[in-house]
Amino acid sequence: MAVIDELVEANTQYARSFQKGGLPMPPKRKVAIVTCMDARILPSRVLGLEEGDAHVIRNAGGRAQDALRSLIISQRLLGTREVAIIHHTDCGMLIFKNEDLRAQVRRELGADAGGIDFLPFSEVEKSVRDDVGALRDSPFIPRDVPVRGFVYDVRTGRLSEVR
Ligand code: ZN
Repeated sequence: MAVIDELVEANTQYARSFQKGGLPMPPKRKVAIVTCMDARILPSRVLGLEEGDAHVIRNAGGRAQDALRSLIISQRLLGTREVAIIHHTDCGMLIFKNEDLRAQVRRELGADAGGIDFLPFSEVEKSVRDDVGALRDSPFIPRDVPVRGFVYDVRTGRLSEVR
């Protein structure tokens, strides 16, 4: 069975006992979380979130620059007022450089990714600081919105704030 068929089957089971169909659209706890797409992070479990609590914006690395579109929508239209940026140890973003991936794309797909910044990084605490700083300096994020950065350790399950 294709994996997606397994997912659809799992959803059939899920929907049988689903009872949260009445939640409002704006996140109840008024927070947006930007984090990596890494398969080892389940934000709802890591952060104790329930359906309806928070926006979780995910991309490769949990990069703020890549999440800006969603953050503006989250804050302006749906009322979130705090941002947490969570990068993590052993991230896939630590294992390549833009040039490497662009060359691989050219080799395997014959396509030119020269215009894409994949936003890799070489040090996880620095990437968190960079992203917190980028949002604090962004004209699209109000000054009074708290923006805090964290590193999640995939070995211990623990979150550490980057100050
Ligand atoms: Zn990652």
